[in-house]
Amino acid sequence: MIHCDVLIIGASASGLMCAIEAGKRGRSVLVLDHAVKAGKKIRISGGGRCNFTNYDVNASHYLSENKHFCKSALSRYQYYDFLSLVAEYDIPWHEREHGQLFCDRSANDIIQMLLKECQKYLVKIQLDTKINSIKNSNVGPFKFNIISSRGQYQCQSLVIATGGLSVTKMGASDFGLRLAKQYGLKVIPTRPGLVPLSYSTKDSNKFKQLSGIALEAEIKYDEQSFKENILFTHKGISGPVVLQISSYWQVEKSRMGQSLKIKLLPDFELHEWLLEQQARHEKVLIKNLLARKFPRRLVNCLCQIHSIDKPVNQYDSKELKLIADNFQDWHFWPDGTEGYRVAEVTVGGVDTNELSSKTMQTKKVEGLFFIGEVVDVTGHLGGYNFQWAWSSGYAAGQYV
Ligand SMILES: Cc1cc2nc3c(=O)[nH]c(=O)nc-3n(C[C@H](O)[C@H](O)[C@H](O)COP(=O)(O)OP(=O)(O)OC[C@H]3O[C@@H](n4cnc5c(N)ncnc54)[C@H](O)[C@@H]3O)c2cc1C
Repeated sequence: MIHCDVLIIGASASGLMCAIEAGKRGRSVLVLDHAVKAGKKIRISGGGRCNFTNYDVNASHYLSENKHFCKSALSRYQYYDFLSLVAEYDIPWHEREHGQLFCDRSANDIIQMLLKECQKYLVKIQLDTKINSIKNSNVGPFKFNIISSRGQYQCQSLVIATGGLSVTKMGASDFGLRLAKQYGLKVIPTRPGLVPLSYSTKDSNKFKQLSGIALEAEIKYDEQSFKENILFTHKGISGPVVLQISSYWQVEKSRMGQSLKIKLLPDFELHEWLLEQQARHEKVLIKNLLARKFPRRLVNCLCQIHSIDKPVNQYDSKELKLIADNFQDWHFWPDGTEGYRVAEVTVGGVDTNELSSKTMQTKKVEGLFFIGEVVDVTGHLGGYNFQWAWSSGYAAGQYV
């Protein structure tokens, strides 16, 4: 039987940050993970360069049943706190659009930094360890009894940092959600987020020919809207604007008739432009005009679907508006998402009402903490998910 003050399950972003902070306070910390390497998701993040935070971190970039929950932790460990750690390790980084911060070299720099910090504060990390059971214990100060494939442990504080359900190849599991249920904690239903959306069979036949086309678009859904690139694939729509809106999209609402509204080239007013062009190039086929602004393959496809094949002077203003709407008020009903296999995050998770926003400790079970993506806090694309992992890990690290 091994005893420690703090046992953390999950040796990745949130778990390692929590371990470092607890280690700094002189707590004896053991981190267990079933994977053979620590920080596997960090390694593949940001196309291998890890978008580790963002200059504009605030609650408006997060989804949660309780939009205020994340504020406390985010305010106590901010992007510049993480940047100062990155600076200590001389890790080169750069800013990309929308305030996103990436490593210059590779995500491995972030993993090595976290592992060195763990070493500095005498945190023990044991990988390749399957957790078989967790039960309460009442032996002295030790509240939890953990049985694993590699031994038995007792700890005072137990931290669950097992992440979401996305990308099982990287070690994802529903362990945290099952444990929450074991302790009678409410879990907000989960769904894949930051994920491509797929065509229905009908749409697939019409639109799969668009595969490979990328252009700027604004997509609106519910109260949300994002403006970035859309990418048409052979399965559906992807690209940053689609990943962002996908975290809000729900199949049930789609089946009730709610559509995504897509505006291609959002900063360009197509109807007005068509009216101007009509005056100048009366006899030109309208699809040739459209092809001056939109990719030819896209124009051919939409014109064929909507039977737009006449010279521009043969349409009146109302008809030109309808033609423009096919490109700029495109109502789109995805059939589903490409699922957890490719999703970057999991929306939903342990209900924040079960946790203290200050410490991440559960209100019902003293000594039990949940941090990172397993909690019902999901960030937009752009480094927000890692910032949540660092901030929630830091918050718990001060109290475990
Ligand atoms: C392809 C991809 C790219 C991404 N890029 C970015 C990005 O650039 N910027 C950004 O902010 N976010 C990005 N994300 C999201 C980000 O990786 C996660 O939000 C973040 O890693 C969550 O940290 P976490 O510590 O909560 O969980 P994770 O990083 O998922 O770590 C969970 C850990 O728990 C372990 N574990 C799980 N189940 C068990 C179990 N049963 N027993 C023992 N151990 C277990 C896992 O092996 C893993 O080590 C990306 C995600 C993906 C999939």
